[in-house]
Amino acid sequence: MKNNAKLLKLKSIFMSKKKHKIVVTTHKNPDGDALGSSLALSRFLKKIGHNVNTIIPDAIPSFYKWMPGIDDSYIFDNDHELCDSLISDSDIFIATDFNSLTRNLKMSCSTQSIKAFSICIDHHLNPPEDEWNLLISDTKVSSTSEIIYDIIDFINPSMFDKEIAECIYTGIYTDTNKFFHCCDHSHPYEIMTNLIKMGVNVNKINNLIYNSYTYDRFKLLGYSIYKKLNFIENKGAAYIILTQKELQKFNYEPGYTEGIVSMPLSIEKVNISALISERKDRIKISLRSKTNYDVRYLAQRYFNGGGHKNASGADFYGSLDDAEKILLKAIEELF
Ligand code: 5GP
Ligand code: MN
Repeated sequence: MKNNAKLLKLKSIFMSKKKHKIVVTTHKNPDGDALGSSLALSRFLKKIGHNVNTIIPDAIPSFYKWMPGIDDSYIFDNDHELCDSLISDSDIFIATDFNSLTRNLKMSCSTQSIKAFSICIDHHLNPPEDEWNLLISDTKVSSTSEIIYDIIDFINPSMFDKEIAECIYTGIYTDTNKFFHCCDHSHPYEIMTNLIKMGVNVNKINNLIYNSYTYDRFKLLGYSIYKKLNFIENKGAAYIILTQKELQKFNYEPGYTEGIVSMPLSIEKVNISALISERKDRIKISLRSKTNYDVRYLAQRYFNGGGHKNASGADFYGSLDDAEKILLKAIEELF
């Protein structure tokens, strides 16, 4: 992130003498970067004297529940009324790791009438400039957590501490899929070095995130690979479909499918991988790819979703069969 005019504006807002009432929120189905960026920013803003409430739209996967600040956050799904009042009482509303309220459908009803000054901090493509009072967007960085690091470093680096560092570490490490993608520039690695100097215990955190499967979740992963993998060899593609019934068989909990979609990329001949999983209210599409294979275009063009070149997703409202047909058509046409 360069120290541009927008960062100076952000600095003047955050460092003003006024103690602001700030709501920090992030996207639904929160992942490591969503949580890392919103929690790190919240802690920073509290430390410089603001009154901050963090609102996470829905359930937090168990392997992120150790993150500093999680226990002080509100879950929108669990208490709409309270979260609505926190949002309407705030004078600054900050969204991290997504750039359009249309992605947070449930919450967008609550936020449509916000009077607060709205700030978006994000790294996804096509940021809608007119949706926000201040948009801090950099689509080239590894993660939103990387931007948060640079913001704190720019505004007041003496506020960094082990807790902020753990949140930022989690965001960068998970959003790059352990540095598999977006790691051809050195800045995220430099940040990692600094985070370790701030006290991050890499081994401890990696175990908390990655070696913390329940027995059921681990068996769901095995089942998905052994029983449910479809391999389209001539297209270099693979996909897995999981029904609601199958998820329930493994006592599904939020986060149980995370990581499954990346597994087929371990196959030498697979460049594109998809997971179609049936949720109670929708079908979730997850897409991953290697190197220059672009799944963001697929997500956007065929499923009205989005994301990044190597990791994208969408919500689909239709049948599993329809989702599969569209995916097959997309693979046929694009690859
Ligand atoms: P995941 O497969 O982990 O749910 O999502 C991968 C990436 O795709 C996320 O980091 C996010 O950037 C993007 N993504 C997932 N779902 C959606 C969606 O419904 N709309 C948009 N625009 N992007 C999504
Ligand atoms: Mn992200």
